[in-house]
Amino acid sequence: MLQLGGPDGGDGGKGGDIYFEVDKDSNTLIDFRYNKKFKAESGANGSGGHCYGKNGEDLIIKVPKGTVVKDAETGKVITDLSEDGQKELILPGGRGGKGNSHFATSTRQAPRFAQDGEKGIEKEVILELKLLADVGLIGFPNVGKSTLLSRVTAARPKIANYHFTTIYPNLGVVKTITGDSFVLADIPGVIEGASEGVGLGLQFLRHIERTRLLLHVIDCSGIEGRNPVEDYNVINKELVNYNEKLSKRKQIIVANKLDIMQDDTGYKNLEKLAKEKNIEIFKISAVTGEGIPELFAKTAEILKTLPKEEIVDIDNKIVYTLKEEQEGFDIEVINGEFIVTGPAVIKLMGRVNIGDNESMAYLQNSIRNLGIEDRLKELGVKEGDTVKILEWEFEWYD
Ligand code: GDP
Ligand code: MG
Repeated sequence: MLQLGGPDGGDGGKGGDIYFEVDKDSNTLIDFRYNKKFKAESGANGSGGHCYGKNGEDLIIKVPKGTVVKDAETGKVITDLSEDGQKELILPGGRGGKGNSHFATSTRQAPRFAQDGEKGIEKEVILELKLLADVGLIGFPNVGKSTLLSRVTAARPKIANYHFTTIYPNLGVVKTITGDSFVLADIPGVIEGASEGVGLGLQFLRHIERTRLLLHVIDCSGIEGRNPVEDYNVINKELVNYNEKLSKRKQIIVANKLDIMQDDTGYKNLEKLAKEKNIEIFKISAVTGEGIPELFAKTAEILKTLPKEEIVDIDNKIVYTLKEEQEGFDIEVINGEFIVTGPAVIKLMGRVNIGDNESMAYLQNSIRNLGIEDRLKELGVKEGDTVKILEWEFEWYD
Protein backbone atom coordinates (compact mmCIF):
# COMPACT_ATOMS: atom_id res chain seq x y z
CA MET A 1 0.00 0.00 0.00
CA LEU A 2 1.05 3.51 -0.65
CA GLN A 3 0.94 6.16 1.97
CA LEU A 4 1.28 9.85 1.49
CA GLY A 5 4.31 11.47 2.94
CA GLY A 6 5.65 17.61 4.15
CA PRO A 7 2.59 19.70 4.51
CA ASP A 8 3.24 23.36 3.56
CA GLY A 9 3.95 23.12 -0.17
CA GLY A 10 1.89 25.44 -2.34
CA ASP A 11 0.26 24.42 -5.58
CA GLY A 12 2.13 24.46 -8.87
CA GLY A 13 1.00 26.84 -11.56
CA LYS A 14 -1.23 25.77 -14.38
CA GLY A 15 0.48 25.23 -17.71
CA GLY A 16 -0.22 27.77 -20.45
CA ASP A 17 -3.08 27.22 -22.90
CA ILE A 18 -2.51 27.02 -26.61
CA TYR A 19 -4.76 29.10 -28.84
CA PHE A 20 -5.00 29.57 -32.57
CA GLU A 21 -6.00 33.04 -33.70
CA VAL A 22 -6.84 34.53 -37.09
CA ASP A 23 -4.24 37.04 -38.20
CA LYS A 24 -5.45 39.23 -41.04
CA ASP A 25 -1.89 39.90 -42.16
CA SER A 26 -1.07 36.28 -42.69
CA ASN A 27 -1.91 34.43 -45.89
CA THR A 28 0.02 31.21 -45.82
CA LEU A 29 1.06 28.40 -43.58
CA ILE A 30 4.66 28.86 -44.65
CA ASP A 31 5.86 29.75 -41.12
CA PHE A 32 4.80 26.35 -39.89
CA ARG A 33 7.15 24.62 -42.27
CA TYR A 34 10.08 25.67 -40.14
CA ASN A 35 8.47 25.78 -36.73
CA LYS A 36 6.60 22.59 -36.21
CA LYS A 37 6.66 22.24 -32.49
CA PHE A 38 4.86 24.58 -30.15
CA LYS A 39 4.82 24.40 -26.42
CA ALA A 40 3.04 26.71 -24.04
CA GLU A 41 5.06 27.74 -20.98
CA SER A 42 5.06 25.31 -18.10
CA GLY A 43 3.53 26.37 -14.83
CA ALA A 44 6.13 27.14 -12.15
CA ASN A 45 6.59 24.81 -9.23
CA GLY A 46 4.94 25.68 -5.97
CA SER A 47 7.19 26.06 -2.97
CA GLY A 48 7.19 25.88 0.79
CA GLY A 49 5.30 28.31 2.98
CA HIS A 50 2.18 27.72 0.89
CA CYS A 51 3.61 29.70 -2.02
CA TYR A 52 1.80 29.05 -5.23
CA GLY A 53 3.55 28.60 -8.58
CA LYS A 54 2.94 31.09 -11.37
CA ASN A 55 0.72 29.95 -14.22
CA GLY A 56 2.42 29.40 -17.56
CA GLU A 57 1.95 32.01 -20.27
CA ASP A 58 -0.62 31.18 -22.91
CA LEU A 59 0.69 30.61 -26.38
CA ILE A 60 -1.20 32.21 -29.25
CA ILE A 61 -0.40 30.83 -32.66
CA LYS A 62 -1.36 33.15 -35.50
CA VAL A 63 -2.84 31.58 -38.59
CA PRO A 64 -4.35 32.98 -41.77
CA LYS A 65 -8.08 33.34 -42.16
CA GLY A 66 -9.42 30.17 -43.72
CA THR A 67 -7.26 27.78 -41.71
CA VAL A 68 -8.85 24.52 -40.72
CA VAL A 69 -7.31 22.70 -37.76
CA LYS A 70 -7.73 18.94 -37.78
CA ASP A 71 -6.77 16.26 -35.33
CA ALA A 72 -4.02 14.33 -37.12
CA GLU A 73 -5.10 11.03 -35.62
CA THR A 74 -8.83 11.09 -36.23
CA GLY A 75 -8.97 13.53 -39.13
CA LYS A 76 -11.76 15.35 -37.28
CA VAL A 77 -12.01 19.12 -37.65
CA ILE A 78 -11.13 20.75 -34.33
CA THR A 79 -11.87 24.23 -35.53
CA ASP A 80 -12.40 26.25 -38.67
CA LEU A 81 -10.90 29.71 -38.33
CA SER A 82 -12.83 31.68 -40.89
CA GLU A 83 -13.79 34.88 -39.04
CA ASP A 84 -11.65 37.98 -38.54
CA GLY A 85 -10.11 37.96 -35.08
CA GLN A 86 -11.42 34.48 -34.28
CA LYS A 87 -9.51 32.82 -31.45
CA GLU A 88 -9.93 29.21 -30.43
CA LEU A 89 -8.55 27.20 -27.57
CA ILE A 90 -6.89 24.17 -29.09
CA LEU A 91 -5.07 22.74 -26.11
CA PRO A 92 -5.69 23.58 -22.50
CA GLY A 93 -2.52 23.65 -20.44
CA GLY A 94 -2.04 20.98 -17.83
CA ARG A 95 -3.61 21.56 -14.45
CA GLY A 96 -1.08 22.60 -11.81
CA GLY A 97 0.04 20.07 -9.27
CA LYS A 98 -1.35 20.12 -5.76
CA GLY A 99 1.08 21.10 -3.09
CA ASN A 100 1.35 18.73 -0.17
CA SER A 101 -0.48 21.18 2.11
CA HIS A 102 -3.61 19.77 0.54
CA PHE A 103 -2.87 16.39 1.93
CA ALA A 104 -2.40 17.26 5.56
CA THR A 105 -5.46 15.81 7.19
CA SER A 106 -6.07 14.85 10.81
CA THR A 107 -5.08 11.30 10.06
CA ARG A 108 -2.22 12.16 7.81
CA GLN A 109 -0.25 14.75 9.69
CA ALA A 110 2.98 14.78 7.77
CA PRO A 111 2.50 14.11 4.11
CA ARG A 112 5.77 14.38 2.28
CA PHE A 113 3.94 13.95 -0.88
CA ALA A 114 3.00 16.42 -3.56
CA GLN A 115 1.05 15.76 -6.69
CA ASP A 116 2.78 16.42 -9.93
CA GLY A 117 0.96 18.63 -12.40
CA GLU A 118 -0.48 17.12 -15.53
CA LYS A 119 2.00 16.75 -18.28
CA GLY A 120 -0.33 18.39 -20.78
CA ILE A 121 -1.59 16.64 -23.81
CA GLU A 122 0.22 15.93 -26.97
CA LYS A 123 -1.76 16.83 -29.99
CA GLU A 124 -0.63 16.49 -33.52
CA VAL A 125 -2.71 18.68 -35.74
CA ILE A 126 -2.94 19.18 -39.46
CA LEU A 127 -3.37 22.71 -40.69
CA GLU A 128 -5.18 23.23 -43.94
CA LEU A 129 -5.65 26.53 -45.65
CA LYS A 130 -8.80 26.83 -47.62
CA LEU A 131 -9.17 28.35 -51.00
CA LEU A 132 -9.85 32.05 -50.75
CA ALA A 133 -11.91 32.15 -53.92
CA ASP A 134 -12.31 30.27 -57.18
CA VAL A 135 -11.18 33.20 -59.25
CA GLY A 136 -8.76 36.00 -58.51
CA LEU A 137 -8.56 39.33 -60.30
CA ILE A 138 -4.99 40.35 -60.94
CA GLY A 139 -3.32 43.23 -62.75
CA PHE A 140 -1.67 46.58 -62.18
CA PRO A 141 -3.33 49.11 -59.90
CA ASN A 142 -6.04 51.23 -61.57
CA VAL A 143 -6.82 48.80 -64.36
CA GLY A 144 -10.39 48.33 -63.11
CA LYS A 145 -10.36 45.25 -60.87
CA SER A 146 -12.46 46.74 -58.09
CA THR A 147 -14.86 48.26 -60.60
CA LEU A 148 -15.34 44.86 -62.20
CA LEU A 149 -16.04 43.20 -58.86
CA SER A 150 -18.48 45.92 -57.85
CA ARG A 151 -20.50 45.37 -61.01
CA VAL A 152 -21.19 41.72 -60.49
CA THR A 153 -21.81 41.26 -56.82
CA ALA A 154 -23.40 42.98 -53.91
CA ALA A 155 -19.93 43.80 -52.66
CA ARG A 156 -19.07 47.47 -53.10
CA PRO A 157 -15.32 47.73 -52.83
CA LYS A 158 -13.78 51.11 -52.45
CA ILE A 159 -12.94 52.48 -55.87
CA ALA A 160 -10.39 55.19 -56.09
CA ASN A 161 -8.12 56.47 -58.73
CA TYR A 162 -4.87 56.02 -56.89
CA HIS A 163 -2.53 53.10 -56.38
CA PHE A 164 -2.79 50.64 -53.49
CA THR A 165 -6.45 51.20 -52.88
CA THR A 166 -7.30 47.73 -51.72
CA ILE A 167 -5.12 45.95 -49.23
CA TYR A 168 -7.31 43.03 -48.23
CA PRO A 169 -9.13 41.08 -50.88
CA ASN A 170 -12.79 41.75 -51.37
CA LEU A 171 -14.89 38.76 -52.23
CA GLY A 172 -18.06 38.48 -54.19
CA VAL A 173 -20.28 35.79 -55.64
CA VAL A 174 -20.74 35.83 -59.38
CA LYS A 175 -23.90 34.40 -60.90
CA THR A 176 -23.52 33.84 -64.62
CA ILE A 177 -26.13 33.98 -67.40
CA THR A 178 -25.73 30.24 -67.71
CA GLY A 179 -26.79 29.74 -64.08
CA ASP A 180 -23.38 28.90 -62.69
CA SER A 181 -21.80 30.69 -59.81
CA PHE A 182 -18.32 31.16 -58.41
CA VAL A 183 -16.49 33.26 -55.88
CA LEU A 184 -14.41 36.11 -57.19
CA ALA A 185 -11.69 37.90 -55.25
CA ASP A 186 -10.43 41.36 -56.01
CA ILE A 187 -6.76 41.00 -55.28
CA PRO A 188 -5.00 44.29 -54.78
CA GLY A 189 -2.77 45.43 -57.59
CA VAL A 190 0.33 43.45 -58.24
CA ILE A 191 3.09 45.78 -59.25
CA GLU A 192 6.60 45.50 -60.52
CA GLY A 193 8.88 44.26 -57.75
CA ALA A 194 6.04 42.60 -55.83
CA SER A 195 7.90 39.31 -55.70
CA GLU A 196 10.80 41.09 -54.04
CA GLY A 197 8.46 42.50 -51.46
CA VAL A 198 8.00 45.97 -52.93
CA GLY A 199 5.02 47.64 -51.27
CA LEU A 200 2.72 44.95 -50.01
CA GLY A 201 3.59 42.85 -53.02
CA LEU A 202 4.24 39.55 -51.28
CA GLN A 203 0.96 39.69 -49.44
CA PHE A 204 -0.85 40.24 -52.70
CA LEU A 205 0.91 37.32 -54.29
CA ARG A 206 -0.04 35.08 -51.42
CA HIS A 207 -3.70 35.90 -51.91
CA ILE A 208 -3.36 34.98 -55.55
CA GLU A 209 -2.03 31.58 -54.56
CA ARG A 210 -5.33 30.81 -52.93
CA THR A 211 -7.39 30.89 -56.12
CA ARG A 212 -7.84 28.38 -58.91
CA LEU A 213 -8.07 30.65 -61.90
CA LEU A 214 -6.88 34.16 -62.62
CA LEU A 215 -8.55 36.95 -64.53
CA HIS A 216 -5.71 39.14 -65.66
CA VAL A 217 -7.17 42.62 -66.05
CA ILE A 218 -5.32 44.94 -68.40
CA ASP A 219 -6.09 48.59 -69.14
CA CYS A 220 -6.38 48.80 -72.91
CA SER A 221 -7.67 52.37 -73.13
CA GLY A 222 -4.24 53.75 -73.88
CA ILE A 223 -5.17 56.74 -71.72
CA GLU A 224 -2.74 56.27 -68.85
CA GLY A 225 -0.10 55.60 -71.48
CA ARG A 226 0.10 51.92 -70.62
CA ASN A 227 1.33 49.28 -73.00
CA PRO A 228 -0.96 46.24 -72.60
CA VAL A 229 1.57 43.64 -73.77
CA GLU A 230 4.23 45.04 -71.50
CA ASP A 231 1.83 45.11 -68.53
CA TYR A 232 0.88 41.51 -69.19
CA ASN A 233 4.54 40.46 -69.27
CA VAL A 234 5.56 42.43 -66.19
CA ILE A 235 2.84 40.91 -64.03
CA ASN A 236 3.61 37.41 -65.27
CA LYS A 237 7.26 37.89 -64.57
CA GLU A 238 6.35 38.74 -60.98
CA LEU A 239 4.34 35.55 -60.74
CA VAL A 240 7.25 33.43 -62.02
CA ASN A 241 9.66 35.14 -59.64
CA TYR A 242 7.37 34.49 -56.74
CA ASN A 243 6.52 30.90 -57.41
CA GLU A 244 6.84 28.68 -60.48
CA LYS A 245 3.57 26.96 -59.68
CA LEU A 246 1.71 30.23 -59.56
CA SER A 247 3.00 31.23 -62.98
CA LYS A 248 1.39 28.11 -64.42
CA ARG A 249 -2.03 28.92 -63.01
CA LYS A 250 -4.66 29.25 -65.71
CA GLN A 251 -5.33 32.83 -66.79
CA ILE A 252 -7.93 34.61 -68.86
CA ILE A 253 -6.97 38.02 -70.22
CA VAL A 254 -9.50 40.75 -69.59
CA ALA A 255 -8.92 43.76 -71.81
CA ASN A 256 -10.69 46.54 -69.92
CA LYS A 257 -11.83 50.12 -70.49
CA LEU A 258 -13.23 49.32 -73.91
CA ASP A 259 -15.59 52.31 -73.59
CA ILE A 260 -12.75 54.82 -73.61
CA MET A 261 -10.40 53.02 -75.94
CA GLN A 262 -9.20 55.58 -78.49
CA ASP A 263 -6.52 53.65 -80.27
CA ASP A 264 -6.73 49.89 -80.50
CA THR A 265 -3.07 49.19 -81.37
CA GLY A 266 -2.32 48.17 -77.80
CA TYR A 267 -5.31 45.88 -77.70
CA LYS A 268 -4.48 44.35 -81.09
CA ASN A 269 -0.97 43.49 -79.93
CA LEU A 270 -2.35 41.91 -76.80
CA GLU A 271 -4.83 39.89 -78.81
CA LYS A 272 -2.00 38.62 -80.99
CA LEU A 273 -0.01 37.56 -77.94
CA ALA A 274 -3.06 35.79 -76.49
CA LYS A 275 -3.51 33.85 -79.73
CA GLU A 276 0.13 32.82 -79.78
CA LYS A 277 -0.02 31.65 -76.21
CA ASN A 278 -3.43 30.09 -76.62
CA ILE A 279 -4.99 32.18 -73.86
CA GLU A 280 -8.61 33.29 -73.81
CA ILE A 281 -9.06 37.03 -74.16
CA PHE A 282 -12.20 39.12 -73.54
CA LYS A 283 -12.82 42.77 -74.31
CA ILE A 284 -14.95 44.44 -71.66
CA SER A 285 -15.90 47.69 -70.00
CA ALA A 286 -16.16 47.37 -66.26
CA VAL A 287 -18.03 50.69 -66.29
CA THR A 288 -20.70 50.01 -68.93
CA GLY A 289 -20.82 46.26 -68.36
CA GLU A 290 -20.18 45.41 -71.97
CA GLY A 291 -18.62 41.98 -72.46
CA ILE A 292 -18.92 40.99 -68.80
CA PRO A 293 -21.65 38.30 -69.12
CA GLU A 294 -19.66 36.52 -71.84
CA LEU A 295 -16.48 36.74 -69.79
CA PHE A 296 -18.07 35.20 -66.71
CA ALA A 297 -19.88 32.49 -68.65
CA LYS A 298 -16.52 31.39 -70.07
CA THR A 299 -14.88 31.70 -66.65
CA ALA A 300 -17.44 29.33 -65.14
CA GLU A 301 -16.98 26.92 -68.03
CA ILE A 302 -13.21 26.81 -67.61
CA LEU A 303 -13.53 26.47 -63.84
CA LYS A 304 -15.41 23.22 -64.33
CA THR A 305 -12.38 21.75 -66.08
CA LEU A 306 -9.99 22.68 -63.25
CA PRO A 307 -9.30 20.55 -60.19
CA LYS A 308 -11.78 21.27 -57.43
CA GLU A 309 -9.46 20.92 -54.47
CA GLU A 310 -10.60 23.16 -51.70
CA ILE A 311 -7.32 23.05 -49.93
CA VAL A 312 -4.35 25.00 -51.16
CA ASP A 313 -1.79 24.46 -48.45
CA ILE A 314 -1.38 21.67 -45.94
CA ASP A 315 0.98 21.27 -43.07
CA ASN A 316 1.48 18.73 -40.34
CA LYS A 317 2.46 20.05 -37.03
CA ILE A 318 3.17 18.68 -33.60
CA VAL A 319 2.03 20.95 -30.86
CA TYR A 320 2.71 19.28 -27.57
CA THR A 321 4.17 16.06 -26.25
CA LEU A 322 2.90 13.23 -24.12
CA LYS A 323 2.91 9.58 -25.02
CA GLU A 324 -0.58 8.20 -25.37
CA GLU A 325 0.24 4.51 -24.96
CA GLN A 326 -1.24 3.07 -21.83
CA GLU A 327 0.83 -0.05 -21.50
CA GLY A 328 4.00 -0.66 -19.66
CA PHE A 329 5.93 0.50 -16.65
CA ASP A 330 9.43 0.14 -15.34
CA ILE A 331 10.72 -0.11 -11.81
CA GLU A 332 14.27 0.66 -10.87
CA VAL A 333 15.70 0.38 -7.40
CA ILE A 334 18.17 3.19 -6.76
CA ASN A 335 19.66 3.79 -3.30
CA GLY A 336 16.87 1.79 -1.74
CA GLU A 337 14.18 3.83 -3.45
CA PHE A 338 11.74 2.21 -5.87
CA ILE A 339 11.33 4.36 -8.94
CA VAL A 340 8.33 3.65 -11.15
CA THR A 341 8.23 5.12 -14.64
CA GLY A 342 6.61 4.36 -18.00
CA PRO A 343 3.55 5.22 -20.09
CA ALA A 344 1.14 3.36 -17.85
CA VAL A 345 1.93 5.51 -14.84
CA ILE A 346 2.09 8.77 -16.84
CA LYS A 347 -1.46 8.10 -17.89
CA LEU A 348 -2.54 7.01 -14.45
CA MET A 349 -1.07 9.95 -12.59
CA GLY A 350 -2.64 12.38 -15.02
CA ARG A 351 -6.02 11.17 -13.80
CA VAL A 352 -5.47 10.98 -10.11
CA ASN A 353 -6.37 13.76 -7.73
CA ILE A 354 -4.64 13.01 -4.48
CA GLY A 355 -6.77 15.36 -2.41
CA ASP A 356 -9.70 13.13 -3.05
CA ASN A 357 -10.22 9.83 -1.18
CA GLU A 358 -12.01 8.14 -4.04
CA SER A 359 -9.24 9.09 -6.38
CA MET A 360 -6.67 7.70 -3.93
CA ALA A 361 -8.59 4.43 -3.80
CA TYR A 362 -8.51 4.36 -7.58
CA LEU A 363 -4.77 4.88 -7.50
CA GLN A 364 -4.30 2.01 -5.02
CA ASN A 365 -6.42 -0.28 -7.18
CA SER A 366 -4.64 0.69 -10.35
CA ILE A 367 -1.25 0.05 -8.76
CA ARG A 368 -2.51 -3.42 -8.01
CA ASN A 369 -4.27 -4.03 -11.36
CA LEU A 370 -1.39 -2.86 -13.46
CA GLY A 371 0.84 -5.37 -11.67
CA ILE A 372 3.00 -2.65 -10.14
CA GLU A 373 2.34 -3.94 -6.60
CA ASP A 374 3.41 -7.48 -7.48
CA ARG A 375 6.52 -6.26 -9.17
CA LEU A 376 7.43 -4.04 -6.19
CA LYS A 377 7.06 -7.03 -3.89
CA GLU A 378 9.23 -9.15 -6.15
CA LEU A 379 11.83 -6.44 -5.92
CA GLY A 380 11.59 -6.65 -2.12
CA VAL A 381 9.66 -3.54 -1.15
CA LYS A 382 9.00 -3.37 2.61
CA GLU A 383 7.22 -1.14 5.10
CA GLY A 384 8.69 2.39 5.23
CA ASP A 385 10.42 2.19 1.85
CA THR A 386 10.11 5.09 -0.55
CA VAL A 387 8.27 4.49 -3.79
CA LYS A 388 8.54 7.20 -6.41
CA ILE A 389 6.01 7.26 -9.20
CA LEU A 390 7.26 9.84 -11.65
CA GLU A 391 7.84 12.85 -9.41
CA TRP A 392 5.50 11.73 -6.69
CA GLU A 393 6.84 10.25 -3.50
CA PHE A 394 5.07 7.65 -1.40
CA GLU A 395 5.85 5.58 1.63
CA TRP A 396 5.16 1.90 1.36
CA TYR A 397 3.29 0.09 4.10
CA ASP A 398 1.96 -3.46 4.09
P1 GDP B 1 -8.13 48.72 -59.52
O1 GDP B 1 -7.01 49.45 -58.86
O2 GDP B 1 -7.63 47.77 -60.55
O3 GDP B 1 -9.05 48.08 -58.54
O4 GDP B 1 -8.96 49.83 -60.35
P2 GDP B 1 -10.35 50.52 -60.00
O5 GDP B 1 -11.46 49.57 -60.20
O6 GDP B 1 -10.24 51.19 -58.68
O7 GDP B 1 -10.41 51.59 -61.19
C1 GDP B 1 -9.48 52.64 -61.32
C2 GDP B 1 -10.11 53.75 -62.15
O8 GDP B 1 -10.42 53.29 -63.46
C3 GDP B 1 -11.41 54.26 -61.57
O9 GDP B 1 -11.45 55.66 -61.72
C4 GDP B 1 -12.46 53.58 -62.40
O10 GDP B 1 -13.65 54.33 -62.49
C5 GDP B 1 -11.79 53.51 -63.76
N1 GDP B 1 -12.29 52.38 -64.55
C6 GDP B 1 -12.28 51.10 -64.25
N2 GDP B 1 -12.81 50.34 -65.23
C7 GDP B 1 -13.17 51.19 -66.21
C8 GDP B 1 -13.79 51.03 -67.51
O11 GDP B 1 -14.11 49.94 -67.99
N3 GDP B 1 -14.00 52.18 -68.22
C9 GDP B 1 -13.67 53.40 -67.74
N4 GDP B 1 -13.96 54.44 -68.50
N5 GDP B 1 -13.09 53.59 -66.55
C10 GDP B 1 -12.84 52.50 -65.78
MG1 MG C 1 -8.84 48.10 -56.48
